[in-house]
Amino acid sequence: MAHIQRLSPTLSNQIAAGEVIERPASVVKELVENAIDAQATQIDIVVKDAGISLIKVTDNGNGIAADEVELAFQPHATSKISSNQDLFNVKTLGFRGEALASIAAVAKVNLTTSTNGSRGVLVQIAGGQQLNKQTVAATKGTSIEVKDLFYNTPARLKYIKTVNTELNRIIDIVNRLALAQPQIAFTLINEQRNLIRTSGNGNLQQTIAGIYGRKVAEQMVSFEQQTSDFRIFGFISLPQQTRASRNYISLLVNNRYIINYQLTKALLAGYGSKLMVGRYPLAVVHIKMAPLLVDVNVHPTKREVRLSKEAQLIDLITTTVAAKLQQLNLIPDAVHNL
Ligand code: ADP
Ligand code: MG
Repeated sequence: MAHIQRLSPTLSNQIAAGEVIERPASVVKELVENAIDAQATQIDIVVKDAGISLIKVTDNGNGIAADEVELAFQPHATSKISSNQDLFNVKTLGFRGEALASIAAVAKVNLTTSTNGSRGVLVQIAGGQQLNKQTVAATKGTSIEVKDLFYNTPARLKYIKTVNTELNRIIDIVNRLALAQPQIAFTLINEQRNLIRTSGNGNLQQTIAGIYGRKVAEQMVSFEQQTSDFRIFGFISLPQQTRASRNYISLLVNNRYIINYQLTKALLAGYGSKLMVGRYPLAVVHIKMAPLLVDVNVHPTKREVRLSKEAQLIDLITTTVAAKLQQLNLIPDAVHNL
């Protein structure tokens, strides 16, 4: 039997990376979430080869203090929570302090950041090893380049699907993040082609237009409802405006995109028998609730969350959607005036 020994930090970060960094789209998600948490109003994403050779995310957020940059790349290092109470009252998208350490363990990373907009710092890290740190001129915010993802973990690289599949996953996650944050202007560029552009003016319907096109957005109808625990609002399509998959349904809890089968079912239940078999509506459903009622510490990627009072929320979504569609049915002309 071999002796027990502690893994080196590089190796343990590579193992941890397996949990959060599955593919290029996971890198995009983590970097954009960091930009959102840094209060950016503009987030620009550039990818090459569907993110395998390059992912670059630039934001105009708060930046990282020059003397904390190394710390940001340490595992379990975060500015977002500091106590047990915070963990159960998370108000940011991140809180695990894992993403930068994980990404830097399996790629080559250049990060430029500035908290004041004149001087900043550039750090270069590859495979978890810091290669360089220097002072540079920089605008306020952070720009992070992730190159040659999984270059040192060939098994993971092999698992990557075609460029098309990976690019679609990136587009999908940026779509959801943009729908979650209408007050942030997003761009996504792949090989010089602009794939996504949202205005960031706070208007949800215009954001939907930026993602799904103007015609689609104009045909969707708005809803809003409130109880003592929840406020829900957003846009849904009419029963005749459907798609062949549920992928056009976005659930956003406190501006976090989540996957929740029960809530999706609740939305569909609101349509009753109005949908044809195998057809699904488009919907952007924002749910606001006290952070204390949301447990985000369920899954490493935070795509699934545990909601208190889920049964009430399910009921609220179904009845709100049903009432909205019923109301439009009674006044058919209203659809054109929305
Ligand atoms: P987490 O987001 O869970 O805190 P990360 O590893 O993603 O963990 O980031 C570590 C820390 O680095 C963050 O807590 C934050 O302080 C800082 N950080 C990362 N990205 C940015 C950014 N784009 N702008 C400002 N600060 C950032
Ligand atoms: Mg993060």
